[in-house]
Amino acid sequence: TCGICVEKCPFDAIEIINLPKELQDDPAHRYGENAFSLYGLPAPQEGKVTGILGPNGIGKTTAVRILAGELEPNLGRHEDEVDWDDVLEAYRGTELQDYIADVRDGEVTVARKPQYVDQIPETFDGNTRELLEQTNERGALDQLVERLSIGPVMEQSIDDLSGGELQRVALAATLARDTDFYFLDEITPYLDIGQRVTAARLIRELAEEENKSMLVVEHDLAILDLLADTLHVAYGEPGAYGVITPPKSVRNGINEYLSGYLENENMRIRPDPIEFEEHAPRSETRGDVLVDYPDLTKSYGDGEFTLEVEGGRIRENEVLGIVGPNGIGKSTFAKLLTGNLEPDEGDADLDLDISYKPQYVTIDQHMRVDAFLSSITDQFGSSYWNTEIAQPLQLERIMEQNLSDLSGGERQRVAIAACLSDSADLYLLDEPSAHLDVEQRVQATSAIRRYAEQQDATVMVIDHDIYTIDLLADRLMVFDGEPAERGRASPPQSMRDGMNEFLANLEVTFRRDERTSRPRINKPDSQLDKEQKSEGEYYYAP
Ligand code: ADP
Ligand code: ADP
Repeated sequence: TCGICVEKCPFDAIEIINLPKELQDDPAHRYGENAFSLYGLPAPQEGKVTGILGPNGIGKTTAVRILAGELEPNLGRHEDEVDWDDVLEAYRGTELQDYIADVRDGEVTVARKPQYVDQIPETFDGNTRELLEQTNERGALDQLVERLSIGPVMEQSIDDLSGGELQRVALAATLARDTDFYFLDEITPYLDIGQRVTAARLIRELAEEENKSMLVVEHDLAILDLLADTLHVAYGEPGAYGVITPPKSVRNGINEYLSGYLENENMRIRPDPIEFEEHAPRSETRGDVLVDYPDLTKSYGDGEFTLEVEGGRIRENEVLGIVGPNGIGKSTFAKLLTGNLEPDEGDADLDLDISYKPQYVTIDQHMRVDAFLSSITDQFGSSYWNTEIAQPLQLERIMEQNLSDLSGGERQRVAIAACLSDSADLYLLDEPSAHLDVEQRVQATSAIRRYAEQQDATVMVIDHDIYTIDLLADRLMVFDGEPAERGRASPPQSMRDGMNEFLANLEVTFRRDERTSRPRINKPDSQLDKEQKSEGEYYYAP
């Protein structure tokens, strides 16, 4: 036995010999005999942003309910045997001692931003202004509305907001409150990079200027790096147990997580490291031309929005990354390619079969996952399909579930599988990283790349996670302009040229972490930031 339980280890997944230190202690909470157990708790600190990095289903919500005083942790014992004083005793001498004392005394107030903002319209009836005015406790609402560019949708019904708008409204609603502790479960889905950086800065400012405790779960590593002061890594077996490590420096936490080995814990959480190539720009693909599209323009309404596309070529068997702010015409371009929209000028009659995964995944019929996927491809269930699609996208465990019961991340994985399983000339995926954890992003990325290579498929991916784009794309197509007014699309170019054009628009430079080569955002106006800007090297700096 391993010390957790008397007879047999309930978690077949655990190798008893390699039992991490944390699991030899009492859990913070166990839902019942042989039920999910949470080991360790994150430690929010006044004036600091604390990050959590790890997979979904590992007990974050459980931890937050404990920190919010909603769930009295049972320390793995029968609940009649434990009260808050015992919990305080168990955490005496740790970073959490003062915090738990406050929770015991009912002195902690909490504001929370939920993970799946798409569900907000189901629980709120009204417009943006009505929602935000309810939460305007600090008198900071006007400033939040301005910084997050919410002004144009203030009078719009919550039901009609796009995912990116909902995300910003939910952030504003949470940050407008006046509480001690703020918990934000993923801030980046559906936001472009500029909006992600703004959200990160607002959270930092609330911690620093108002001395608040912020706890953030985030899977966009570049943003997490910018955002957090300390980091807890979370790992475990979804549904069985979760471990939240003591706080690490953000740099070490991310590096150890990527390397797959947690040093202080002497714990391997993944067989292989996740690696970023030092000089990542891949040599340009030299495949045959799949499509040669001319200059195109498209306007909506009375020229409310106009997109100008400079003609270009997409090559066979390449993964083309597409970047640019929200509202700049990326989906419009996709619809021109798929023939769902007619251009005003130029002939886009491409005669291509395109398989398209939209940004907002709406597959929620009452149908099982296996039935849905087998209706798309007769390859379903073949060993090739299982190895290349089902396994890397972790579909086995959810095959028998109903589409309508899936979480956001599960739905995303099914939608990626459905898109890739269709037979088409061109595969177009809009924000496949949304709601996937880091591990799943890397696996989805490599599934998409391998698929492109093995099937000689051509893939276009729109995404705002710079790591996902870096790991995925051979070449890059950059959109810029004035969101919601006019957009301009450059032809596909090399990763280096494309990243430089894109990041120059945003005035953001990246350096490389010395140990792992992963890209990190430079502080604005730092020595490196200035040097790289003057050299025009925004991303793949030497
Ligand atoms: P996360 O927020 O990381 O996705 P949660 O804390 O919501 O994870 O859940 C972790 C695990 O605990 C899940 O397997 C979930 O099924 C289980 N769980 C959550 N609440 C309860 C409960 N009230 N009773 C039993 N199990 C629960
Ligand atoms: P992106 O994919 O880059 O976020 P879109 O191509 O979806 O951008 O939209 C670009 C602009 O065009 C946005 O301002 C959007 O509101 C507007 N738009 C998109 N579709 C329509 C439409 N059918 N009618 C009017 N305006 C539209």
